[in-house]
Amino acid sequence: MESALSVRDKIGVEDFVLLEDFRSEEAFMENLRKRFKEKLIYTYIGSVLVSVNPYRQLNIYGTETMEQYRGVDFYELPPHIFAISDTAYRAMRDEGRDQCVLISGESGAGKTEASKKILHYLAQCSSHKGEVDRVKDRLLQSNPVLEAFGNAKTNRNDNSSRFGKYMDIQFDFKGAPNGGHIKNYLLEKSRVIYQQKGERNFHVFYQLLQADASLLSELGLNGKASDYHYLSQGDCTEVHSINDRTDFLQVQKALQVIGFLPEEAKALWSIIAGIILLGNVRFDANPEGLAKFSESGESIATIAKLFQCPQDKLETALTNRLIEARQEKMLSPLTVEQAYYGRDASAKAVYERMFYWLVRRLNSSLENKSKSRVTLMGLLDIYGFEIFEKNSFEQFCINYCNEKLQQLFIELTLKSEQEEYLNEGIKWEPIEYFNNKIICDLVEEKHRGIIAVLDEECLRPGDVSDETFLAKLTAVVGTHAHFITHETSDYEGRKTIQRNEFRLRHYAGDVTYQIEGFVDKNNDLLYRSSKEAFSSSSNLVLSEVFPQSELASQKRPPTAGTQFKNSLSELMEILMSKEPSYVRCIKPNDNKQSGTFDEKVVRHQVKYLGLMENLRVRRAGFCYRRVFEVFLQRYKPLCPATWPIWDGELSKGVDTLMTHLKLTSTDYSLGHTKVFIRFPKTLFKLEDLLEKK
Ligand code: ADP
Ligand code: MG
Repeated sequence: MESALSVRDKIGVEDFVLLEDFRSEEAFMENLRKRFKEKLIYTYIGSVLVSVNPYRQLNIYGTETMEQYRGVDFYELPPHIFAISDTAYRAMRDEGRDQCVLISGESGAGKTEASKKILHYLAQCSSHKGEVDRVKDRLLQSNPVLEAFGNAKTNRNDNSSRFGKYMDIQFDFKGAPNGGHIKNYLLEKSRVIYQQKGERNFHVFYQLLQADASLLSELGLNGKASDYHYLSQGDCTEVHSINDRTDFLQVQKALQVIGFLPEEAKALWSIIAGIILLGNVRFDANPEGLAKFSESGESIATIAKLFQCPQDKLETALTNRLIEARQEKMLSPLTVEQAYYGRDASAKAVYERMFYWLVRRLNSSLENKSKSRVTLMGLLDIYGFEIFEKNSFEQFCINYCNEKLQQLFIELTLKSEQEEYLNEGIKWEPIEYFNNKIICDLVEEKHRGIIAVLDEECLRPGDVSDETFLAKLTAVVGTHAHFITHETSDYEGRKTIQRNEFRLRHYAGDVTYQIEGFVDKNNDLLYRSSKEAFSSSSNLVLSEVFPQSELASQKRPPTAGTQFKNSLSELMEILMSKEPSYVRCIKPNDNKQSGTFDEKVVRHQVKYLGLMENLRVRRAGFCYRRVFEVFLQRYKPLCPATWPIWDGELSKGVDTLMTHLKLTSTDYSLGHTKVFIRFPKTLFKLEDLLEKK
């Protein structure tokens, strides 16, 4: 039999707090690598679960494993996503506290898979009965639907979620799920009209092209994906790990289970087809240099039929814009460039609004019909920090979101540590840590934050451009310690920043943003003539998402940045009101390979997920804590006075045991219900002694 020591050597420690040198990134990496090589993808930092994507099917998610983890104390079994799920579930069911599981990590790290595992676990472990199964089915089936419309093949992940998702699962007092609610954040709609090399549009486009011939001909789709501009710019219409045909059948099935009416599904397919064909509309310049429809492009008649809107209105919308001057409305013809811009803006707007409709529709079918009190379990699956070669408005929003989550994480972790010490009557020693609130403020502060400055530029009449925005921004926040441009004098790296860029010093590292498109993307405007065309549609989805009332309203909708900011602050409130658990996902390499542990890639993520900081906070006082009873149960053989039974006061028993082993108050402290051990070596000593028994 292997000794505890040699096992530790081989598979590392199951909780990073047990690393002797918890400040050493080397030791952290070493432990992660060891475990990964042994196909042990899960490790704790206290109650936080760190997960490394294995990129292969591991036999650890079956029903048997689920049953094994059911109702078992967190530390009794090896680290697992089911342990996190079970702990949260029981706290919710037995103590009525709302929970949330925050899953973070970069694209391809395994967030979505983790959220699915949690969902499956919850479905498995909550009791079975009629209505419950219906809700469970719907919850589970909402995934393939959302993934079809919201996920795409990217260079990082064949099934990358291109939106953030927060899902609340509602449970009745017996712990059975009886409803759900989904919120989505910032769909990457630019993908509808453009894809980088090697990437695809959203799955649903390719899936639809695999529909039965009858549906295809009804929709006027007679080409291959490579024939359609919106589907083929990435030069990658097929993905070996994806079967669009079977996926489409699954989506159709899922829609049925969830309760979509046939005409609702039909309305969706018409819109998708309409967008596909819209991408093939082309424009030529007429003698005056203005846009006219090109003979070689797709016919507007077919598209108008699919969108179910009057052909003349659509034609007008695609080649003109409506200008309102002094109570007069005038059509002004577009240049060719403007016409393409308008076409693409329409495609994006239609898709985005359809996606929102879809989420609303899913929510109405997940709605909790009983009026009884519910407790909630929230799952947050949201994009991790992004640093690309070129970073634009989207990365800016995503990274801002991660700053907020980091802030929440630090606040809540510190808070819960502090509370535990307080509750246990143990002296709390304040911990030094970097508070990234300063960066959040830089982005979101009223009047002088980046978003506010951007909004101000976007709403200002006159000559507004990305350049004027940057100039303004530099004037307002130029001296902020976390904001840098090529002009920042006391910053060494300024030569690496171009005139059209700014750099933010995020908690996770520096990111340089190119300003091109900031104003436009924040404005997020759709030509009024396009809105008019779509709001005269009789398609049941379009007519709902392009309401007539929007045309009448004089109010400008909030900018994209402000909307995002508001939805984030709402999200933070939701999360703050719940008890959090964390899953931190890491991907082992950039090539979607199993078995390869790329030091550099992993180290980078360990850094920006703030794991070392996390460990430091968790280890600040003690590496290990257990309630007396559990502790005594395990170690009582080590002391004649506690073996085989200790029938005195529990804390006294622990004290007797520790004293017998010549451990002193530098090694451990006794709280009201728990024993706290300062150094890992103490724990290892106990384990080794236990083994020699
Ligand atoms: P993210 O949502 O973080 O972008 P995904 O959850 O979509 O990443 O994971 C990307 C891919 O990695 C999945 O499609 C799957 O092939 C693989 N993967 C992720 N987690 C696991 C896991 N626990 N076991 C096996 N494969 C996984
Ligand atoms: Mg995902």
